[in-house]
Amino acid sequence: MTHTPELPAFRWPQMEPGWVWLCGAGPGDPGLLTLHAANALRQADVVIYDALVQEAILDWAAQAEHIYAGKRGGKPSAKQRDISLQLVDLARAGKKVLRLKGGDPFVFGRGGEEAQTLVQHNVPVRIIPGISAGIGGLAYAGIPVTHRDVNQSVTFVTGHDQSGNTPGSLDWGSISRGSQVIVIYMGMKHIAQIAEKLLNAGRPIDEPVAVVTSATTDDQTVLETTLGRVVDDIANAGLEPPAIICVGKSALMRQVLDWQGMAAGQAPRNLDPLGRGRPAESA
Ligand code: SAH
Repeated sequence: MTHTPELPAFRWPQMEPGWVWLCGAGPGDPGLLTLHAANALRQADVVIYDALVQEAILDWAAQAEHIYAGKRGGKPSAKQRDISLQLVDLARAGKKVLRLKGGDPFVFGRGGEEAQTLVQHNVPVRIIPGISAGIGGLAYAGIPVTHRDVNQSVTFVTGHDQSGNTPGSLDWGSISRGSQVIVIYMGMKHIAQIAEKLLNAGRPIDEPVAVVTSATTDDQTVLETTLGRVVDDIANAGLEPPAIICVGKSALMRQVLDWQGMAAGQAPRNLDPLGRGRPAESA
């Protein structure tokens, strides 16, 4: 039995029959839901959700029918077009439809395609952003995606192209030169090719890399490695997706900002991993 948190008083939007709310569920930890997501969960007639959406979050929509639209347990995934048309059908049947997706619906989540299909079918939509794994998941590992001493830009890339195959369509040379920090979604399957392309594009073999699996959940693991060792280290550690891979010096910040480790009693390993000098003692 989970306790559903009360929402603070506010003019919360009401879900109307025939609408689809396309909503991010965050990277895992139910506490990373937005209040708009919580408001939607308690009103929906139907929740149609993807893999990676936690049970505890679905429990907050106990009144609703739950429809699974992802890939799990070896079952083939529902086709994207079928999901979009199912949303159209549910809306036309007068349901209050909550389409719940991991992270942010518009970040590597096909939310744009689903929303477009809905609009093309005259179904009214509301978009509720979520915390994307590439930002929030890394934060749970103590890694800030930007840091003044490291990067003025960050690049989010997907390790799969549309065909689900190699990341061959990306210009790794430009990405490598243009961005000190590269955050890779869906990168586990093709990590060997990705690492090779980055090394060929001139990134150093000892470039820091962090791999965060099942970020923000109870199963979160963090591997700290380098571009030269990442492939072997992932294999040796037996890591499984979902994983966010962070390439760049920001990964070093975990040495000082592993806040979960600190909460468990560990001392920070290195107070100054970027070598910028310790702050002056306050008088
Ligand atoms: N819309 C999502 C991304 C969907 S693509 C978002 O904004 O986060 C799915 C990929 O996201 C996974 O392959 C993985 O790379 C990443 N991902 C999602 N949840 C994750 C988690 N809890 N831990 C690590 N990676 C995660």
